[in-house]
Amino acid sequence: MSAKTEFHIAVLPGDGIGIEVMDACLEMLRVLTRHLGGLHLAIERLAGGAACYRDTGIALPDASLKGARAADAILFGAMGLPDVRRPDGTEINPQIHIRFELELFAGVRPVKAMATGTNILADARANDIDLVIVREQTQGSFSDFRKGTVENDRRAIDRCVITRDATERVTDFALRLAERRRQQGRPGRLTCVDKANVMSSMAFFRKVFDERAAHFSQIRVDHAYVDAAALDLVRRPWTFDVLLTENLLGDILSDLAAGLIGGLGMAPSGDIGDRHAMFQPCHGSAPDIAGRATANPTAMFLSAAMMLEWLGERHGVLCCLSAAGHLRSAIEHGFTCGKIRPAELGGPDGTAAITRTVIELIRSRPVTA
Ligand code: NAD
Repeated sequence: MSAKTEFHIAVLPGDGIGIEVMDACLEMLRVLTRHLGGLHLAIERLAGGAACYRDTGIALPDASLKGARAADAILFGAMGLPDVRRPDGTEINPQIHIRFELELFAGVRPVKAMATGTNILADARANDIDLVIVREQTQGSFSDFRKGTVENDRRAIDRCVITRDATERVTDFALRLAERRRQQGRPGRLTCVDKANVMSSMAFFRKVFDERAAHFSQIRVDHAYVDAAALDLVRRPWTFDVLLTENLLGDILSDLAAGLIGGLGMAPSGDIGDRHAMFQPCHGSAPDIAGRATANPTAMFLSAAMMLEWLGERHGVLCCLSAAGHLRSAIEHGFTCGKIRPAELGGPDGTAAITRTVIELIRSRPVTA
């Protein structure tokens, strides 16, 4: 175990409810670290997002990218506003720029049912949903990010590029994740989700996936075309364990899967690379509810728990791992005993009420090492 106990966290709240759930998260983290002791998070707030672009013409200032690169980890709210667009009609999305710049190649999106009392699927087995979508994030359908072309207002082109190196890297990551879950009592099964029946790029993705999977004989692997995977995610999501997929497909499927456990406010994520990592809720800036104080901060809190776990494992720091465990157990307990009832799921609780409850539970629950 390491003696490192202070971590520099770059914080990019962004736009809309990104700012609201980030403020809630920082308040919660202040209480968590003070209550547990021995861990210090040095927070550096950085600018970026659609409002920043509207006001300054710059979506992500150089100083923000530099701060994110220098930090031990990045916490991100949400960026983008539908009415703030570049001349080509696309939106402002610095999160994608950061993923490319810092090579955050694995988008890790856990989808785990909480005892919310709201079962979207009207099937008791929906309470057993516990899957992870791993999304390749440096290429695929986003390869031409900010470089797509429109020719003479007649033809638009965005390429889907799949390389061997990037596919091997993310496949190995997903296989190791499936192995870790197998050791924790999950099935340890990895499903490659693609469109290999139609697209050469995806057939190549599947070929490289199979070659890498052959090195991990203890992991059960299978394949699904994305259309059938979408069907089965709705029809029997409890049968999945880890899914690996391409950038755009992962973007879509992870929102679908978040819907199965109540909504985007329940779905955390980590953007993981070899040297850097960023943690953010799966949702966007939600202009439809921004300013109403109803945003569900659970996904942001769970993303902070993922950050603490990542820091703890990377640096061998026990107090990060116990902080993550304490936070997770407070949130899970809050749902199980009906103390957290988010407005997103039809309950009465807005951002402040959920934050207050989680903080009370952090303070009142026994601390385990
Ligand atoms: P969104 O994720 O912002 O919202 C989709 C739906 O989910 C909305 O009905 C919203 O109210 C609801 N929702 C989302 N988070 C919630 C929460 N925490 N609590 C309660 N309800 C929640 O997607 P959108 O409306 O398609 O996009 C809005 C903006 O966000 C766009 O500008 C888009 O480009 C951007 N965006 C950013 C990110 C990111 O920063 N990573 C991701 C997705 C979308």
